[in-house]
Amino acid sequence: MTSSRSFDVAIAGRGAVGAAAALGLAQAGLKVCLIGPSPSATLASDPWDPRVFALSPATRELMQTLRVWDALPAERMAPVYDMRVYPSLSATAPELHLGAYAGQVECLAWIVENRALMGVLENALRFAGVETLDDTVSDMHLTGSGASGRIELALQSGRSVVARLAVAADGADSALRTLAGIEPSVREYGQRGVVANFETRLPHGDTAYQWFGHEIGVLALLPLPADDTAMGRTSMVWSAPELLAEELMNLTPEALAERVRLTTHNVLGEMAPITAAQAFPLRLLRVARLIAPRVVLVGDAAHVMHPLAGQGMNVGFGDVACLLSVLSQKEFFRDLGDTLLWRRYERARREAVSTMQTATDGLARLFGPVPTPVAGIRDLGWRAVARSGWIRRRLVAHAVR
Ligand SMILES: Cc1cc2nc3c(=O)[nH]c(=O)nc-3n(C[C@H](O)[C@H](O)[C@H](O)COP(=O)(O)OP(=O)(O)OC[C@H]3O[C@@H](n4cnc5c(N)ncnc54)[C@H](O)[C@@H]3O)c2cc1C
Repeated sequence: MTSSRSFDVAIAGRGAVGAAAALGLAQAGLKVCLIGPSPSATLASDPWDPRVFALSPATRELMQTLRVWDALPAERMAPVYDMRVYPSLSATAPELHLGAYAGQVECLAWIVENRALMGVLENALRFAGVETLDDTVSDMHLTGSGASGRIELALQSGRSVVARLAVAADGADSALRTLAGIEPSVREYGQRGVVANFETRLPHGDTAYQWFGHEIGVLALLPLPADDTAMGRTSMVWSAPELLAEELMNLTPEALAERVRLTTHNVLGEMAPITAAQAFPLRLLRVARLIAPRVVLVGDAAHVMHPLAGQGMNVGFGDVACLLSVLSQKEFFRDLGDTLLWRRYERARREAVSTMQTATDGLARLFGPVPTPVAGIRDLGWRAVARSGWIRRRLVAHAVR
């Protein structure tokens, strides 16, 4: 190690969750350092980023508090006012329709490209005075005790930083989580999330579509903004069983577009590829503890879930909102690294995280291969939910939280 710079908070991980945490902590008046490989390396030249996220109204609230929501380019975002979900690929499958209007909410979600989100967060970080280090955390140790205690993070380059608190936002394979002694339990879904964007002959009408089926996994088409040159644009997230994912990834972009069109009963008409497909392994990752001495876990470092509800990032932003709320209520005498303080965070997040993981895992299993009687009960339940206005309103209320 060559030199040690001192901060209130050091954050490992420069993804969207780490960047939002850094921004909020700096806006709260803390001296913050954000460590991670520069995201600009991933802001590639493709016209549209194949990584898009459905951001919830609760996430919008956080982004508004951080004063970055209005900076998101409107022409790169699409609101979702309706969701149409089908329990199978059959053309006669009963539709579950969730609508913002019927659910009495402004919008179900906003579809935003990863690079647009990262772009505004990175800009705001510069103005907030956050120190960014293009580096990775490779080791940690605790020094001192009580209020004079510190955490020292050793970085790959040989540098090190010292802080009163470290936040692990370094993703599903978090090094800081391992260094802090928290071992996750991981279950692979045996699926990969295949993502790609397409131009479509028909407009999407601000609607997100989703099909479940045990042969196909879960296939979602999310709306993207269109312009004069296209009738519509859509972003696909296909959580496909391994063999199917491999088959899809081996198709040419044009053949994949045709495959998606046929699988989705031509709902958006002819499709043409905008981006090459990318695939991500899908897994469920849980941790027994969200904190360790002077370390707090947020985002995918703390929880990974199936993307079928488009909630992983939203739950990560929920962690950030909670972190900032706990900090705002910190007693003046309490040290920033005090475990008693962060136990409040752990208590507050445990249930929200576990509820979302259990719900998404339950749905992923229910629509995986199940015995025929279970499939029968599932289909009956689906029809009942699809017909009940009250249940659908409850579903919308839950989805937008
Ligand atoms: C196919 C798919 C679709 C999805 N769709 C949605 C959606 O619509 N809505 C939604 O809410 N969520 C969605 N998710 C989930 C979402 O992608 C994740 O929850 C989110 O990206 C996690 O963000 P993060 O910042 O916690 O982690 P990451 O984005 O993984 O960022 C972690 C960062 O840490 C850095 N890093 C790694 N190691 C170190 C180290 N040792 N030191 C420093 N830095 C390090 C990495 O380089 C990276 O920049 C989806 C996931 C998948 C797979």
